[in-house]
Amino acid sequence: MPTHRALQFASLTFKSSQKMENSGMFELIIIGAGVIGSSTAYQAAKRGKKTLLLEQFDFLHYRGSSHGESRTIRATYPEPYYPPMVIESEKHWRDAESEIGYNVFFKTEQLDLGPADNSSLLSVISNCEKHSINHQILNRHQSNSLFSIEIPEDWIAVVTELGGVLKPTKAVAMFQTLASKHGAVLKDKTEIVDVEMEMDERRGGVLVSSRLGEKFWGRKCVVTAGAWMSKLVEKVSDGRMVLPIQPVETTVFYWKIKEGKEVDFTIEAGCPSFASYGEPYIYGTPALEFPDLIKIAVHGGRECDPDKRTWGAAVAGTEGISMAVGCLKEWIKSTFGERIDWEDGPVMSQSCLYSLTPDEDYIIDFLGGKFNEDVVVAGGFSGHGFKMAPVVGRILVDLASGGKAAAVQLDEEIKHFKLGRFERNPRGNVKGFEDQVRLT
Ligand SMILES: Cc1cc2nc3c(=O)[nH]c(=O)nc-3n(C[C@H](O)[C@H](O)[C@H](O)COP(=O)(O)OP(=O)(O)OC[C@H]3O[C@@H](n4cnc5c(N)ncnc54)[C@H](O)[C@@H]3O)c2cc1C
Repeated sequence: MPTHRALQFASLTFKSSQKMENSGMFELIIIGAGVIGSSTAYQAAKRGKKTLLLEQFDFLHYRGSSHGESRTIRATYPEPYYPPMVIESEKHWRDAESEIGYNVFFKTEQLDLGPADNSSLLSVISNCEKHSINHQILNRHQSNSLFSIEIPEDWIAVVTELGGVLKPTKAVAMFQTLASKHGAVLKDKTEIVDVEMEMDERRGGVLVSSRLGEKFWGRKCVVTAGAWMSKLVEKVSDGRMVLPIQPVETTVFYWKIKEGKEVDFTIEAGCPSFASYGEPYIYGTPALEFPDLIKIAVHGGRECDPDKRTWGAAVAGTEGISMAVGCLKEWIKSTFGERIDWEDGPVMSQSCLYSLTPDEDYIIDFLGGKFNEDVVVAGGFSGHGFKMAPVVGRILVDLASGGKAAAVQLDEEIKHFKLGRFERNPRGNVKGFEDQVRLT
């Protein structure tokens, strides 16, 4: 449900949208008001840029990737380029919280489990060392005595300080409210169907058109369309540009904690956010959003068309869901024992979208072609982008405002996210460990 503040700004937005077509040129138009677009709008408006944020559905809708009750934040990544982004993001999350006056980030420790020879987990450890992230490696006995978690004899657990839960819908509402407060114009129910380079000498820049025929002018445009990214880019480039982003429908599950054990799984009792690098990759967050329920899910899903969803419940009997639930039951039984009611299966599920790239790395780049550096794309967050929204927003505003000169400055941060990697290798960045998202 939208918060009171969100409702307030929605009505303000409606009034300002009446005058939209006459409001002249925006410095930045952002297409897509998920967490990435909303955070970008906040950062741009805060820097004094005349900003417009456009969304095809209602604000805070449940049809994309940024809704719901919990997302994990963790600095543990097998790739060396993500931990510094998370560390910067943590600071921005706290700054935004201070500005809005409520919390969207609930910090815990992060616990990563897996076979002692798992290549991803070994890379996680080496990145902790590389980036001076405090970490402790636990054996079976230590993980049991510190966290009451059972792992097999040949597994280890890595505990780090930066973990926790972000509240997605609340966080998106926060960024939108702050963007509005800093002067951004926000407009929902506006599906963008065209982006053209405006040849009119008086205006220049980018012309963005909606399905209903509204037109918006911007000096620069950032496209943050989530699972609709490939469709939209293909459409606006007349089929010339196809981004390698596959929409995937994933299902998260909530499990009942047995009576008398509820406190064990709370943040207050020290329950960490966690990930298990076995087969499949499983993740979870402490009990927070629903009383006595804990979220534990498989990092995977089914390829889909974002406009023709099956939704989780409709496919409860299908092979993919049954396999995921079967794996989760086994894992919960061996990891948490009889403290969670695994036998009866999950008591609640929610459907959500991933935007998957072949290497599971983000795409952050100029669109190029006729759009040159005037249109920036940010997508393919591959099921791990929420925590990064603040830092990605900062990068996107830098790129859109500074063009190629900014890209040179930002090269160390964005070189793994450029589109050119797929021209060199359709699989993208080469890694020394396995993919994490499991497709069924
Ligand atoms: C179940 C689940 C669990 C996850 N867990 C984690 C986690 O623990 N940690 C983590 O960091 N990340 C996690 N993620 C990933 C994270 O949530 C996503 O990476 C992030 O939300 C992506 O945001 P986005 O803004 O790119 O996409 P979206 O939120 O989908 O936003 C894109 C927006 O663009 C709009 N749009 C599309 N086309 C148009 C158009 N033509 N005109 C106007 N608007 C348009 C869409 O309607 C949508 O609102 C998880 C994702 C899921 C689904």
